[in-house]
Amino acid sequence: MNLLNTLVDKGLRRELPTRDEALAVLATSDDELLDVVAAAGKVRRQWFGRRVKLNYLVNLKSGLCPEDCSYCSQRLGSKAEILKYTWLKPDQASDAAAAGLAGGAKRVCLVASGRGPTDRDVDRVSDTIKAIKDQNEGVEVCACLGLLSDGQAERLRAAGADAYNHNLNTSEGTYGDITTTHTYADRVDTVQKAHGAGLSACSGLIAGMGETDEDLVDVVFALRELDPDSVPVNFLIPFEGTPLAKEWNLTPQRCLRILAMVRFVCPDVEVRIAGGREVHLRTMQPLALHLANSIFLGDYLTSEGQAGKADLEMIADAGFEVEGTDQVTLPEHRAAAGACGSSESAGCGAHDGGGVCGSVPAEKVSEARTDLVSVRRRGAGTDLAPNA
Ligand code: SF4
Repeated sequence: MNLLNTLVDKGLRRELPTRDEALAVLATSDDELLDVVAAAGKVRRQWFGRRVKLNYLVNLKSGLCPEDCSYCSQRLGSKAEILKYTWLKPDQASDAAAAGLAGGAKRVCLVASGRGPTDRDVDRVSDTIKAIKDQNEGVEVCACLGLLSDGQAERLRAAGADAYNHNLNTSEGTYGDITTTHTYADRVDTVQKAHGAGLSACSGLIAGMGETDEDLVDVVFALRELDPDSVPVNFLIPFEGTPLAKEWNLTPQRCLRILAMVRFVCPDVEVRIAGGREVHLRTMQPLALHLANSIFLGDYLTSEGQAGKADLEMIADAGFEVEGTDQVTLPEHRAAAGACGSSESAGCGAHDGGGVCGSVPAEKVSEARTDLVSVRRRGAGTDLAPNA
């Protein structure tokens, strides 16, 4: 296909596709899907080889959020029966992180529910970063604490945070349909604050919330404009007890097209498959490794992922290798320009997404697979061992 040849050439040159080209990727047929994966896979291998970066989520504070993000099981009024707990102590968080690092992760993503941190919360997280870094040489730490006030990004950076995650989630045009308690502009502002403080910016999206192809292209182009080092792609987990519980809009093929589009638009950026990987890609997960160069190991914030051992086996069986702490994630031109030389999450970044919004899904649609959604009952905030 001329389209794919053009996109590969542009991806290898780090050149932005046109909106029409990005839309055309989303409109390809199932017959063309392997060609799309192969083309985007060439771009992935150019910038990231066959490496897969593993990231590990630690939910520092779960549930009871005053914000109303429709996709989120931790939102105001959520009836989802998730774990609810307040701040983990630094040693508890460090123990949880250690399990993920022992399982092969090189980045720990510290996530807390809420609109944004107080200055006291920043102190707590600073203590947690220190506890983790003291015990794990070379670990990367990403914080994901919601909207940042002036000076907080700088304080997190001074405390040793390498990165900050805050997702745009969906297009500016539909943002008001998913959340009313803060704005798209608030989210952009926090990503810019993280960037400005020298943190590696991580910002991504949630697909499957009822958005159109145009919305998806809008948010990915907006992300490219913000220039994050990493882009987590969440696939909405429609949690029972949230407004988006009925939004089962994704097929494995749709997820692969979305990941391919993100790779073409952000060719040299760490593209991470985040929440919803197992639920929506299902047995197609290994193909997605040809598009994304990063995943979460083990469980998500409020839902359980497949066993960490299964993640590792999948990576090896598909012919990829887990990225080591001695390997730099980002391509040389990016690592040299960036904050921490390596890269990125979802929560108020690796959200176990939940979704939007009154627009018509561009493509029809899988059956509801509520059988694949399990609320997390182990790891952080419980007495049970984490999945790593
Ligand atoms: S996404 Fe973050 S801010 Fe929004 S409801 Fe969930 S925890 Fe709260």
